[in-house]
Amino acid sequence: MSNKEKTIEADAKRGGAPDYLDQSDFPEVDVETHGMGEKLNRLRAAVLGANDGIVSTAAVVVGVAGATTNSREIFTAGVAALVGGAISMALGEYVSVSSQRDAEKAAVDSERKLQAKDPEAEFHHLVQAYKISGLSSETAVAVARERTQTDPLAAHLEIHYGIDEEDIVSPWSAGIASFFAFFVGALLPLAAIILAPAATRVIVCVAVTLLALAITGAISAKLGGAKPGRAVVRLVIGGGLALAATFAVGSLFGTAVA
Ligand SMILES: [Zn+2]
Repeated sequence: MSNKEKTIEADAKRGGAPDYLDQSDFPEVDVETHGMGEKLNRLRAAVLGANDGIVSTAAVVVGVAGATTNSREIFTAGVAALVGGAISMALGEYVSVSSQRDAEKAAVDSERKLQAKDPEAEFHHLVQAYKISGLSSETAVAVARERTQTDPLAAHLEIHYGIDEEDIVSPWSAGIASFFAFFVGALLPLAAIILAPAATRVIVCVAVTLLALAITGAISAKLGGAKPGRAVVRLVIGGGLALAATFAVGSLFGTAVA
C-alpha cells in the first residue's frame, strides 16, 4: 500500500474529510432539496400538459363558436375536446414511460447478471468507467472499491445508464398526472366560454386563454431557470394565432352550411 493510500485509509477510519481539505471551501448541500431536479421536471411536465389542455380546448370551443351561437353545441364540443384530449395525453405518457421503464428494467437485469457472474470483471469495468469519466487511475480504483463494497449494482447503473433504481417513475402515475394536468388546463377556456354572456363569449374565452398561457409560460420558464419574457411572448402569439385560425375556419364553415 502506498503512503497516499495509507493516508486515505486513515482518513476514512477517522470518518471525515482529510485535514488538507478546508471544509469551508465547499458549499453546503441541503440533503432535503437534493433530488429536486426530478420533482421540477415533473412539475414542468404538468405545466406543459396544462398548456396543451388550454390551447387545444380553446381552439375547439372558439372554432365551434365561430360556426354556431348554440350554447349547447359549443359546450358539447368543449367537453368532448377536454375528455378526449386528457385521455390521449394520459395514454401517450403511459406508453412512453412504460417503454422507458422496460429499458431500465432490462438494464437492471443485465447488470445484476453480470455482477453475479463475474464480480472481478465488473470491478475492472467500473474502474474503467470512472477513468473515462475523468478520474485519475488511483481515484477511480478507490471509488470503484468503495462503491463495490456498498452497492455495486447501483454504481454500475448510475455510471453506465444514469439510472437511479429508486427514481424509476411508474407509468400509471405519469399517465394520471398528465390526465389531470390537461384536464385542469382545459377547464379554463371551457368555463370561460360557458359562463360568459353569449355576445362576448368568444372575446372572453380568448382573453382567458391568452392570460392562462402567459401564466403557464412564465411558470415553466421560471422552473427551467430561463427568463419568462420570451416564453410568454411565444405562447401568447402562438395561442392567439391558433384561436384566430380555428375561429376563421369555424366562421367560414358555419356560414357555408347555414
Ligand atoms: Zn458495469
